[in-house]
Amino acid sequence: METLIDNNLSVYTFGNKKADGSRKMKNLLGGKGANLAEMSRIGIPVPPGFTITTEVCTQYNEEGKDAVIARIEPEVRAAINSIEETMGAMFGDDDNPLLISVRSGARVSMPGMMDTVLNLGLNDESIKGVIKMTGNERFAWDSYRRFIQMYSSVVMGLKPESKEDLDPFEEIIDHLKDKRRIEQDTQFTVQDLQDLVYDFKDIVKKRTGKPFPTNPWDQLWGAILAVFDSWNGDRAIYYRKMHGYPEDWGTAVNVQAMVFGNMGEDSGTGVCFTRDAGTGENVFNGEYLINAQGEDVVAGVRTPQQITLLGSQRWAKLAQIEEEERKEKYPSLEELMPEIYKELFEYQNKLETHYQDMQDMEFTIQQGKLWILQTRNGKRTGAAMVKIAMDLLKEGLIDEKIALNRIEPRKLDELLHPIFDPEALEDAEVVAQGLPASPGAATGQIVFFADEAEKYKNSILVRIETSPEDVEGMNIAKGIVTARGGMTSHAAVVARGIGKCCVSGAGALKINYKNRTLTVGGHEYHEGDWISINGSTGNILEGKVATKEPELSGEFAELMKLSDAYAQMEVRTNADTPKDAEIARSFGATGIGLTRTEHMFFEVDRIKAMREMILADTIKGRKQALKELLPMQRSDFEGIFRAMKGYPVTVRLLDPPLHEFVPHQLATQKELAEDLHISLSSVKTKVAELEEFNPMLGHRGCRLGNTYPEITEMQTQAILEAALNLKKEGINTKPEIMVPLVGTVEEFIQQKAVIDQTAEEVFKRRKDTVEYSVGTMMETPRATLVADEIAKYADFFSFGTNDLTQMTFGYSRDDSGKFLPIYLQKGILKADPFEILDQEGVGQLIEIGTQRGRESHPGLKVGICGEHGGEPSSVGFCQKVGMNYVSCSPFRVPIARVAAAQAALNEN
Ligand code: ADP
Ligand code: MG
Ligand code: MG
Repeated sequence: METLIDNNLSVYTFGNKKADGSRKMKNLLGGKGANLAEMSRIGIPVPPGFTITTEVCTQYNEEGKDAVIARIEPEVRAAINSIEETMGAMFGDDDNPLLISVRSGARVSMPGMMDTVLNLGLNDESIKGVIKMTGNERFAWDSYRRFIQMYSSVVMGLKPESKEDLDPFEEIIDHLKDKRRIEQDTQFTVQDLQDLVYDFKDIVKKRTGKPFPTNPWDQLWGAILAVFDSWNGDRAIYYRKMHGYPEDWGTAVNVQAMVFGNMGEDSGTGVCFTRDAGTGENVFNGEYLINAQGEDVVAGVRTPQQITLLGSQRWAKLAQIEEEERKEKYPSLEELMPEIYKELFEYQNKLETHYQDMQDMEFTIQQGKLWILQTRNGKRTGAAMVKIAMDLLKEGLIDEKIALNRIEPRKLDELLHPIFDPEALEDAEVVAQGLPASPGAATGQIVFFADEAEKYKNSILVRIETSPEDVEGMNIAKGIVTARGGMTSHAAVVARGIGKCCVSGAGALKINYKNRTLTVGGHEYHEGDWISINGSTGNILEGKVATKEPELSGEFAELMKLSDAYAQMEVRTNADTPKDAEIARSFGATGIGLTRTEHMFFEVDRIKAMREMILADTIKGRKQALKELLPMQRSDFEGIFRAMKGYPVTVRLLDPPLHEFVPHQLATQKELAEDLHISLSSVKTKVAELEEFNPMLGHRGCRLGNTYPEITEMQTQAILEAALNLKKEGINTKPEIMVPLVGTVEEFIQQKAVIDQTAEEVFKRRKDTVEYSVGTMMETPRATLVADEIAKYADFFSFGTNDLTQMTFGYSRDDSGKFLPIYLQKGILKADPFEILDQEGVGQLIEIGTQRGRESHPGLKVGICGEHGGEPSSVGFCQKVGMNYVSCSPFRVPIARVAAAQAALNEN
């Protein structure tokens, strides 16, 4: 992808339909910079500017500011000169000053991670020049007060004193609005704005101890370095961690001539999407504000208006505004500025076709001229991701391979979350209506501050609006509600990006941070109260509302079909009950890769027989107890086989240490003694006997079957009899019997002998047979090394990567909570190996095991049944190793199907 560059430039210019860079240079120029260059190249009107590369950011982190400034200063000066020429204004000049914006931009867009400074270059002298050149005093002072506001918080670090406080500048603004009895910032007079500038400077001096910088070059370098510094700010670090982006990417800095949306009624600014980022629907949409600048739309300063007529009418319906009022007070851009709208519509079309993906764009209108300030592949929900990819495929804009690769398998998880039960929804009381900012269903307890989202297991973050500081809490909360802001507000954009349900702009909500209350419709809610939110309709609902399982349909089902056409590996499921098996079937699993038999024994009516078996002192006693267990286990298998309708089912023989089954409390031990007519002390002795120092390395797995073969006999009998019974129903099951925790070939040989012997007896007795196979779970390092020996006798291998990871690292899964988080934080481990397969270490054993197994047994069936079977990067590894199938929990089956298709596609 990345074009190799050997010109050693630190600064790349763009503008005037030309550019040094292009879209292919995202790594070097950041996403924003590369796309500004690309737009300029393809003739989209972009204000001229330049990009300082991400490499400079990395150098800055290594060498410090002096060395870096000295090196890049000549290039920066030359680039400023070139903007000056195009714009016919001079940076730092008092009479005809060039004003610029300084914007950050990493390789991938990190919404709000690093803040932009607009109108840079203004001071008490140059403002006079601006007034003289434009004849617009109001605009000049509005720009100046905005500049001080942004620069002071972004570069000088001025923040609210506590989280309950508003931004100090906003406080001054609100105060002045109250005093002047006005509601909108557009109603400020020149005098008001001058007062604001004066008050702002004052508070900066008071709070930071430093005067506001007046020299434009000092302002510029301050802003550039602040962008670099923000790469290592807490928010950016958190976002990188969340998405697994490396630290050494760095961010680029974009410096660009200002265009002004705050020059009057013929000016404005907005944000738009080529398709619906929430649902994926193919409709151009977005929001704008007249006489506004920069983030006004996103920050929810005023209620933004819709760009299209259709969008405007949809919005008015939700907001319960009559058509007449809508037309007058909230006209769409399409109605208000039809020429500009037409031009914008053409650009969005051109950009979507050019990038072959849904675009998220920013634009500004300066006195009737349209400028595009940004385009990027738009963040979207999981549902929109699927619909857009499938639609673009149908429209012929992309091919099947690209469509499949557009899917982030992990994000499908959103589509597998519960949705509101339509019946419960009918009865639910709607307390307020907001905008359907990010679809989904969420029920939880109210919190008002992002850093308190962890207070409850299910929390709903309720805010007037959100800001970049809130991203971490938004990620933890189950859903997000804001009183202000539109469909492109910070809350809405971030929520869609992380797939969180969000209702924005619910204007009826009165939120009081200090008292921690939410008042709406005469009712007062407090922190901890339950509410539900429907991100698909914008409804905020009273209390808890019941949910139900989602289903595969529409584009999602089409995607699954497409995946199966490309996938080479089968996707099976891990299921211990008929219900799990059925869910997995509905998600497209074509077999069970792991049925754990022990879970069946924990149910109340069975645990007794199980304990009796364990406590028995003689084989005879044990066999007696096993006889009681047999019919129960047989009927369990019947249920599972029936649910799987003839698809292969792998059943693992008893695995956990017996100790897990016996009672540890005195009361239950007493009960057991009475039940079995034995003394309490003998129960106690037996329990004590079963106690182990390292149960995970103790008497478990095939060590049980080898010491108590009668358990293996009973289980084999139950499996095969169940299969025989189903055969009568017309369902042909070919059970795959799996021996756990094998380390030496003899362990397997002896268990297999018991299984085969039992099968012979069962078939003879029932005068009927079924096909069955016997294989092993590969989960000890030794087994993978002697795989060639084992494979001589085994029909299949299934890598149990949970135990294999545990034994390869020597990390106890049950105790790793004490050190793994610290290891991850310190970078000793890059990822939790129990979550993401450690390809470097454990992966070698898997490769060796598979290779050696197939050397002595060509065509050996190999699969994986650990948690990793549903994790996309691990699925990719399984393909590389040449596995026949992956098996994962039911809700991960669709994710694994797409991951398997991608793995096959990207292999060659
Ligand atoms: P973010 O990454 O947070 O979106 P941006 O750098 O894109 O930050 O900008 C913040 C806001 O300022 C956007 O609305 C953008 O369109 C606007 N903006 C940035 N540069 C300019 C400029 N040169 N002229 C006018 N508006 C600008
Ligand atoms: Mg932007
Ligand atoms: Mg295991």
